[in-house]
Amino acid sequence: MSMTQPLRFYVHTPFCLHKCHYCDFNSHVFSNPPWEKYQQALLKEIEYYAQQPQFKQRRISSIFFGGGTPSLAPPELFEAVLHTLQTHFSFANDIEISLEANPGASEAQRFQAYRAAGINRVSIGVQSFDAAELKWLERIHSADEAIKAYHIARDAGFDNINLDLMYALPKQSLASWFTTLEKALALEPEHLSCYQLTVEPHTQLAITHKKQALALPHDDLALDFLWQTRQRLQQAGYQAYEISNFAKAGKTCQHNQGYWLYDDYVGIGAGAAGKWDAEDGGVWRYSNLRSPNTYIDTALQHGKAVGSDEYLNLAQAMGEAMWLGLRQSQGIHIPSFSQRFGNSPQQAYPQLLQQWLQQEQLKQHQHYLQLTEQGLNIADDIAASFLVAV
Ligand code: SF4
Repeated sequence: MSMTQPLRFYVHTPFCLHKCHYCDFNSHVFSNPPWEKYQQALLKEIEYYAQQPQFKQRRISSIFFGGGTPSLAPPELFEAVLHTLQTHFSFANDIEISLEANPGASEAQRFQAYRAAGINRVSIGVQSFDAAELKWLERIHSADEAIKAYHIARDAGFDNINLDLMYALPKQSLASWFTTLEKALALEPEHLSCYQLTVEPHTQLAITHKKQALALPHDDLALDFLWQTRQRLQQAGYQAYEISNFAKAGKTCQHNQGYWLYDDYVGIGAGAAGKWDAEDGGVWRYSNLRSPNTYIDTALQHGKAVGSDEYLNLAQAMGEAMWLGLRQSQGIHIPSFSQRFGNSPQQAYPQLLQQWLQQEQLKQHQHYLQLTEQGLNIADDIAASFLVAV
């Protein structure tokens, strides 16, 4: 375990105005969230984790406020969380502090206050600029409101904005998706996240899909969406640095890159997860209680609200590092992997690697192990092949 390794902080706010039917995040509909108590619970958790030897006095490289809908929270909550974090930890000079915002919950005054609180990156959940698609997704905002939210964020001084978009919706054509993509490009955000819709188990959408199968694009069309999106965004000056993420030069999301690089992170808030490297090469991770009220009561009483934790041995941790690292376009830096786990990928997976390399699904480029173009088509299968059952 290296105490000089970057530490990331994830802060979850689980409240939403409406539960979108495709959503499998830990989000709960509250008309009047208990912000004061929630803030107190978050601060208690920070104080707890600041005392843990594996995190104590480490430097924080990025903070991400996700949800749920964090942009429903009063700006004072962000001020208090950031102030308390700064009291207990040091911040990197170039720290990235992101906030997820929903266009339906975007007010000019709030964005200015978020900026003043220290947030320096905003990720806006647009999903689509098509009215019918937004309705199908059960989003509570219109396309115009999404554009307005973007301009509000810009006017408030944010120079690092991401737009979240979703493609491969039922009955969606490539033309319709490209209308959304072009509208997003016209706004000139620094970053775009383009995710394929997936029907996650235990969502309302999964229940609907089971009753009557949705007209989702078949695999070939879904791959067309992926490849034509990559091509268009590359033309527009965005680098595809991860399967679903595209950035202008110098504007990759540091926080998410930390996950793919298998950095340590502390998660606070209902349902948040954390992870740190153990001294024997394995990994510890935990997940918080998911119910907002139970989380608040537990954190206020005990300083933490862990619902479950687990230890991954060296083989399991290596597999997870491979699974995450291969999502990045640059792939896995072989010398860093070897130094960290005492084993190179070639030593750890001689047969599996040989198989993927021979099939030209993976390639070694200088010091990196990465997916080939054809490997990208089956990226999930390749990445998952390295996972070892926990
Ligand atoms: S707004 Fe986001 S977090 Fe909330 S229910 Fe919809 S998709 Fe989930």
